Amino acid sequence: MKTYIVGNWKMNFTVGESSLFLHKLLQKVRIMRDLEVVVAPSLMALQPLSLQIDRRKMKLAAQNFYDKDFGAYTGEVSVSQIRSLVNYALVGHSERRYIFGETDKDVRAKVAAALRCGLTPILCVGETAEERACGETTDVVRDQVLGGLQDVSKEDLGKVIIAYEPVWAISGHGKPARVASPLDVEDVFKLIRKILSETYDDSVAESTPLLFGGSVKSLNAESYLSLPDCNGLLIGGASLIAPEFLDIIEIAKRVRDDRA
Ligand code: PEP
Repeated sequence: MKTYIVGNWKMNFTVGESSLFLHKLLQKVRIMRDLEVVVAPSLMALQPLSLQIDRRKMKLAAQNFYDKDFGAYTGEVSVSQIRSLVNYALVGHSERRYIFGETDKDVRAKVAAALRCGLTPILCVGETAEERACGETTDVVRDQVLGGLQDVSKEDLGKVIIAYEPVWAISGHGKPARVASPLDVEDVFKLIRKILSETYDDSVAESTPLLFGGSVKSLNAESYLSLPDCNGLLIGGASLIAPEFLDIIEIAKRVRDDRA
């Protein structure tokens, strides 16, 4: 299975800045067979960056889209409109769930739309600090995984990536984020594989890529990448700093080579 390093630029960078930043990355990122480097710029930048990117080195992801193809949906952009620009799409990111009120039903429709249009959905799941404190992590993760995948066949699950992102570990929301312990992360990875195995079967459970996201930096990337069930990282803040992001890519390559 590949290792995935995904940078979520969120609502940062103008189109010009995005292009300059991508240029910097492209100068340094090498073509690597088993390491997939993906960035998710703002929707505005997707079109120009899709012309600029070298897809042998890196791929693009959408941060968001609407699940209908065309029609009277003022202000929305459909997956059909971006399908030629990107290979991946984030779905169910906690900022979409908690700031913009996306429900598991919305998430499910977006997962289905991405798959229908040939994009790989990166389904994000994770509990809040309150839910963890109340011992609800297992239930929340189970509900979000099953809620998002409800309409996904066993065959299509092979095209889905799942990112575990505990909300309390995500930076940029005012109070300092907590750093997740690798042991806690591995527990949730095991839980997700168990849910997939019970719902589908062992082989798809084992072959679904699981990413971790939450305040990942070059300093702690290895501790997550070395987990037996970790297939990559989803990175917010540190993906906006070129040397950091490039270091994390190098660490991922080294961990992969060491494992081989
Ligand atoms: C994210 O929002 O997906 C994320 C992981 O952010 P950060 O790395 O900044 O915590």
